[in-house]
Amino acid sequence: MKIYISCDMEGISGIVHVDQTRSNGQDYPRCRELMTEEVNVAALGAFDAGAKEVLINDSHADMRNIIIEKLDPRVQLISGSLKPLSMVQGVEAGFDAAFFVGYHAGMGAKAGILDHTYYGSVVSEVKINSKAMNEAAINALMAGSYGTPVVLVTGDDRVCEEVREILSPVETVAVKWAITRYSARSLHPKEAQRQIREAAARALRSISQYKPFVLPSPYILHIKMLNAGMVDNAEIMPGSRRLDALTLEYKTDKLMDLFKALLTALTLGSESIPQVRPK
Ligand SMILES: [Zn+2]
Repeated sequence: MKIYISCDMEGISGIVHVDQTRSNGQDYPRCRELMTEEVNVAALGAFDAGAKEVLINDSHADMRNIIIEKLDPRVQLISGSLKPLSMVQGVEAGFDAAFFVGYHAGMGAKAGILDHTYYGSVVSEVKINSKAMNEAAINALMAGSYGTPVVLVTGDDRVCEEVREILSPVETVAVKWAITRYSARSLHPKEAQRQIREAAARALRSISQYKPFVLPSPYILHIKMLNAGMVDNAEIMPGSRRLDALTLEYKTDKLMDLFKALLTALTLGSESIPQVRPK
């Protein structure tokens, strides 16, 4: 059994502030350790259930957060950026199942901890085929296109709710409960890690109940941005159509083109304002 893990940072137990997730933040060194421990226990849970191979993709910001020497020696780690498949780089090799660890809610929908969708400084909403999509759903679609089901998502209670609505059935572990966008009640990291390891193994022991997430083509992407200047820049993307001041539309039969169009539009949108970084 081969398992793929995409690991973000905003959904790790104890993390509630942007300062904790940026490499120049005062709290960042200990928060990257917490991230490393949480993704490592997800891998251990996979090995408990009989996995022979675990590939971890560091999926947060510049994607150099996870401390490789603190991981179980059986895993391999993808780190650094840019990567063509971004948060799901590596999944194209084909896996029996995927875990999304440390994930967060989509921008605005549930006011989760540090909620955003890919580029928090650009996006207010992403829809595919008229359905609001958070990062977990978009990444699950990409994994699904390679035949890989997402069987476990961990993060705050809001992202767990969202993925149960979109991806069900899916195993979830809420490691914290959002009070506001920047405050939460968290499990102790050791307890969060215990629950994640158990949930990872539990999901894989009933792996046959999970199916790859797929949507019928053609795909219609709608990206709503935070201001019109961003769309002014993004609408130079070939094949795109501006629907109104804030919304860009892109239609395609190919999921990979949709994913590339999303990343292209967001990159262009972010260049209309200074100092924007992918989250
Ligand atoms: Zn992130």
